[in-house]
Amino acid sequence: MANLNYLSITEAHQLLSTKQVSAKELTQFYIDKIRRLNPKLRAVLVVCEAQALEQAQQTDKKLANGLSIGMLEGIPYTAKDMFMTRGVQTTAGSKILENYTPPYSASVIQKLDTAGAIMIAKVNQDEFAHGGSTENSSYHATHNPWDLDRVPGGSSGGSAASVAADFGIFSLGTDTGGSIRQPASYCGVTGFKPTYGVVSRYGVVAMASSFDCVGPVARSAQDAQIVFEIIAGKDPRDSTTIELSTASQGLSRINAIFYDAEAAGRQVSSAVSELNSDIVSIKIGNDLTAFGSTELALAAYYVLVSSEISSNLERYDGVRYGSSAKDADDLIQTYFKTRGEFFGPEVKRRNIIGTYALSAGYYDAYYKKAMQARTIIKKSLDKIFEHNDIILTPTTLGGAFKLGSITDPVEMYQTDLLTVFANLAGIPAISIPFGIELSSGMPLGLQIMGKQGNDLQVLNVANYLQTITNWHTKVSELKL
Ligand code: GLN
Repeated sequence: MANLNYLSITEAHQLLSTKQVSAKELTQFYIDKIRRLNPKLRAVLVVCEAQALEQAQQTDKKLANGLSIGMLEGIPYTAKDMFMTRGVQTTAGSKILENYTPPYSASVIQKLDTAGAIMIAKVNQDEFAHGGSTENSSYHATHNPWDLDRVPGGSSGGSAASVAADFGIFSLGTDTGGSIRQPASYCGVTGFKPTYGVVSRYGVVAMASSFDCVGPVARSAQDAQIVFEIIAGKDPRDSTTIELSTASQGLSRINAIFYDAEAAGRQVSSAVSELNSDIVSIKIGNDLTAFGSTELALAAYYVLVSSEISSNLERYDGVRYGSSAKDADDLIQTYFKTRGEFFGPEVKRRNIIGTYALSAGYYDAYYKKAMQARTIIKKSLDKIFEHNDIILTPTTLGGAFKLGSITDPVEMYQTDLLTVFANLAGIPAISIPFGIELSSGMPLGLQIMGKQGNDLQVLNVANYLQTITNWHTKVSELKL
């Protein structure tokens, strides 16, 4: 049988179409690998073996009948536990949803299903996607395949680790402040956050509704684009969705500006300075204050996101669904005890911050100010985009950190310094592998941000950079 390790979508499609491997064999290959290696990596929460094999059989039937198959047909993938998956447990990494099995699937899962992609597992994440390391999962932390003592990043840590460890060909994640890009960077894979609204949030557990985006984690920008084009587009069930703009976003003469940021940035920056070409011309920006201040962005992000969280998480009240405290005497006690018992510390913290920021006496001082800061940041980015098509930065300030090494919540928040801009402004952004941190041997990422609606241009630039560099082909050397 052909070598099935680290296949791209197009390679797997080729093998399936030419019957060098059956969908069943391919699916079984990944499931066996998960069973063998997941006890060390802990990226996967549940394997959907029966469902996956049944789906694979349908692809194989089609092939046996001489029919052609679509690009994603028979392609095994994993999904973050934020997505409703009919008949398969969906916990959002929280104990409050421990035994919750949804009766329907998120629109994106349905679209992938219709395209014939095979969901083989649900993967770990920070509880309700609150975090940057996957250590906030109520179940267990996930490890980084490049170094098991390090975090995979978060909150889509299970998605990034599962792609980096080759537990599936791609994964679906969510990004509210960096949760696709940051773990992609830490795990040496490609992660794309689309323009806000281009991908449906229907059936996705809500974190902060004006920030949440769904996107792919994959081995390359090319693979990310294949998945993105399937899941993008207007959805009547999510009124915030818009059609993907396919207006010409070609690659002729791209003007890019690169902003450096501290230590790891220097390494990414020296790689970037070698890139100038006829296609992408790169200027170096002075400093990040051009973005409207990085500190302002982080503060605004955490006030606004916590506010939206405190509103969205009201629904977990011990009555409507999910876990419920057993020994409560009345309704009020049910609320208190259920949340006290089943929400983790970070989720409680954000609920408290958000409720405080939205309360009558503090609304103007915090929520309103943060909204104003959001506007300033959006305008600052618009200004940069007047003269540049693309903004480049390192994705993170460094490579993945050691498990357990960041215990102060604010220090953890600071790891999002470079990713929150794209969510505050609703613009598309991708992280592609772009170097190895000399001190730790861990992967580093380059973030590419574009104008709102220019998702395809961002993907095109990423794809172009991946044709002239080979960082994305490097895989973890760890023998799991
Ligand atoms: N790390 C950020 C946070 O904790 C981002 C989370 C996310 O994008 N879901 O809010």
